Amino acid sequence: MKMQFDSLFDMMEAFPDEQSAIDHLRAIRWGENNERAHCPHCGSTRVMHFKDGKTHKCSEKECRKRFSIKVGTIFEDSKIPLRKWFMAIWMVTSHKKGIASTQLAKDIKVTQKTAWFMTQRLRFAARTRSFNRKLKSPVEVDETFMGGKEKNKHANKRQNAGRGAVGKEVVWGAQERNGELRVMHLESLRNVKAVVKAHIEPSATVISDEFAGYKGLSKDFHHKTVNHSSGEYAHTGNYYHTNSIESAWAGFKRQVYGIHHFVSPKHLHRYLSEYTWRYNRREREEGQRVNDLLKWADGGKLSYKALIA
Ligand SMILES: [Zn+2]
Repeated sequence: MKMQFDSLFDMMEAFPDEQSAIDHLRAIRWGENNERAHCPHCGSTRVMHFKDGKTHKCSEKECRKRFSIKVGTIFEDSKIPLRKWFMAIWMVTSHKKGIASTQLAKDIKVTQKTAWFMTQRLRFAARTRSFNRKLKSPVEVDETFMGGKEKNKHANKRQNAGRGAVGKEVVWGAQERNGELRVMHLESLRNVKAVVKAHIEPSATVISDEFAGYKGLSKDFHHKTVNHSSGEYAHTGNYYHTNSIESAWAGFKRQVYGIHHFVSPKHLHRYLSEYTWRYNRREREEGQRVNDLLKWADGGKLSYKALIA
């Protein structure tokens, strides 16, 4: 079976029918010879494979459940053919700014509501798993603010930003120079120092702007600040700058304001996941990114109820 493809056309040729797409998902999740097969209900590796190529059954006496390869993934309970999912994954992972659900609906011929749900499930798949390591020196840290009109905000939310960003959502990020980008939607910047400590190796070089919330970081880190207004960060050849994280923000804002126009605070973390996921794989080839996301498709479905809650 063809595991690699380098264009959307190539990918659809590799999967001429639904069964070939099912086989691919199974090979990605369980290996070419089902060597990692396991029951999504009880975790047992004693799995029988039916001749129809779609049905599997757990051999454990207490379980005996039948399931498809989609069970326990974001595709569970979806009536959308996997081939359409694959096309959606191609677009979300390859288009630099992602894709609007309205556009996706037209491109793969599903309703707008279905397309919205698909893109949200894909963002869920791309969500940040637990961070298993701290970022290595040097690390640029920065914060940015998204959307929101002051008049639409409730009074209690107004106080939260903590810094010249009344009524906006606070997004904080850390960029390992030439490495991983991490971003998160924060309630406020009040405890930003604790966030820095949680994500960055002690005594690493940390470069930030002159925001007062970072004062005192030099106790635990080699802390350098840059002054945006003086223009010093723009000097080429200067090691201490926050240009990388600032360009990540610029890319994220182009995606949000250019493609989606508006992102509700409730869903902001999902868009951040999608963006970070793609950003951290920007050196990979398109086909690899599709397979990467398929690998991440496990971890359970995201129900409509949970999404709109
Ligand atoms: Zn089982």
